[in-house]
Amino acid sequence: MNKKITIAIDGYSSTGKSTIAKQLAKKLGYIYVDSGAMYRAITLFAMQCDFVSQDHLDTQGLVDNLDMAKLHFKFNKALGYAEIFLNDKNVEKQIRTLEVSNLVSKVAAISEVRKKLVAIQKSIGKNKGVVMDGRDIGTVVFKDAELKLFMTASAETRAQRRFDELIEKGEKVSYEAILTNVVERDKMDSTRKDSPLVKANDAIEIDNSHLTKEAQFEMILELVEDRL
Ligand code: C5P
Repeated sequence: MNKKITIAIDGYSSTGKSTIAKQLAKKLGYIYVDSGAMYRAITLFAMQCDFVSQDHLDTQGLVDNLDMAKLHFKFNKALGYAEIFLNDKNVEKQIRTLEVSNLVSKVAAISEVRKKLVAIQKSIGKNKGVVMDGRDIGTVVFKDAELKLFMTASAETRAQRRFDELIEKGEKVSYEAILTNVVERDKMDSTRKDSPLVKANDAIEIDNSHLTKEAQFEMILELVEDRL
């Protein structure tokens, strides 16, 4: 089967978008792109240059220096997916901290940041055969994607999953701090002016609060096969 399609996966934070996207990309031999990692890496850059912190945001400073933030992905064979590099440094680990999570939605609301990242995302996906997850993939980046999914789950379920993930990675975090972050981030992402998180009209909504990963994968694979 040679036909290649574009799969856009959007939804709230910690709904397992990247897990399902990675599984699909592996199964189909497609490229997987974690667009959230790109927003996180730009946030890390902004933190390093002191353009953003908990109590300030220097939008102009960040915009004027955006060209200094060079991003690229490099496939990691052992992991089976591409890792993100900021100015030639692997920042996969640094971008997943709660500190970055608490600042990323502020940075992602800046139109110039979005413009830069959307252009990269479009160029990566121009030949199809891509699974990309994020917040605006089906509504802005790939409006003509053959399959659009919109993932949801209760805030508590999502916070518990993110909490388990971070604890496993050795981070010292509280469940309450994660729940607050998840709720705040969704609110900011859904209410921003530029490319807010909304379900595309033609997206299929999947609430996975009570779905096992296996059942979800089988269900989505059927949707993919219908489109091939
Ligand atoms: O997917 P992840 O939770 O890592 O995304 C981190 C943040 O990046 C989101 O909360 C959102 O603010 C921003 N984002 C975005 N558009 C995307 C992907 C992520 O605004 N396509």
